Amino acid sequence: MIENSAVGTLYIVATPIGNLEDITNRALRILREVDLIAAEDTRHTTKLLQHFAINTALKPCHDHNEREQQNYFVQLLLAGKNIALVSDAGTPLISDPGFHLVREAQQQGIRVVPIPGACAVIAALSAAGLPSDRFSFEGFLPAKSTARKSTLETLKEESRTLIFYEAPHRLLESLQDLVAVFGKDRQAVLARELTKTFETIKNTTLAELAEWVEADSNQQRGECVLLIEGWKAPVQEDINQETGRVLKVLLAELPVKQAAALTAEITGERKNKLYQYALEITNKTNE
Ligand code: SAM
Repeated sequence: MIENSAVGTLYIVATPIGNLEDITNRALRILREVDLIAAEDTRHTTKLLQHFAINTALKPCHDHNEREQQNYFVQLLLAGKNIALVSDAGTPLISDPGFHLVREAQQQGIRVVPIPGACAVIAALSAAGLPSDRFSFEGFLPAKSTARKSTLETLKEESRTLIFYEAPHRLLESLQDLVAVFGKDRQAVLARELTKTFETIKNTTLAELAEWVEADSNQQRGECVLLIEGWKAPVQEDINQETGRVLKVLLAELPVKQAAALTAEITGERKNKLYQYALEITNKTNE
């Protein structure tokens, strides 16, 4: 049960990202018990509440009015009312409104309690098949190609898995810019319509992903998360300068395998290492 105390609590409640079964018992209880729900879009949240027969009052709290509304919510909290903040889908504040309200509530000494649940970035990462020990969530990329490419330039040598939210109508353009900046061979995953009927998780190279999305317009519909394998420092760094020179000379005349094998004979360097390096500098995949 929610306690009655002099000052109320602000609950940050995660809601489903598609499948309505993905709401926790705790979230449903909090939504029933609070005095007010602050919602990104009250019409959207009304549908969710109707589905679960919850009658709690709703007030809007979206990007355009968050700062004005924050005072109203904070006054109610200080007067002892409990409030739940929800967004249209998933976890509030994750590419969604709520930051100003949470910060102001904390500054006023109001308890802020997370009620965890669905979040597209975490759902996508958990099933993507990319390294998940370290990752960088980058939110939405800029809408215009020039700005998008310069953002991507700053991320090009990021070694953690990169995760972006993307609008379906910009997916193809963004993939094409990713190929242009990161190269065609980086492993990439498109996680689309998670938890919904047409859920798709495709793990391939950036170039193949861009081609696949271009060829099938269905892939340019619905909601999606893009995940890109982090940058791997080229083997080049520990290849001696003269060895690198010999390999490059031979690569100009021979196929990768032969050039690597001959360089190994000439220099005594390991054939496998040279082969990997040769693939990197010629930007080819395993032959
Ligand atoms: N707060 C939400 C969360 O916790 O994931 C994200 C809100 S953000 C405004 C909406 C974006 O999240 C979409 O454009 C899409 O990139 C991603 N997203 C939300 N639901 C998704 C789903 N079911 N499948 C794939 N991506 C989803």
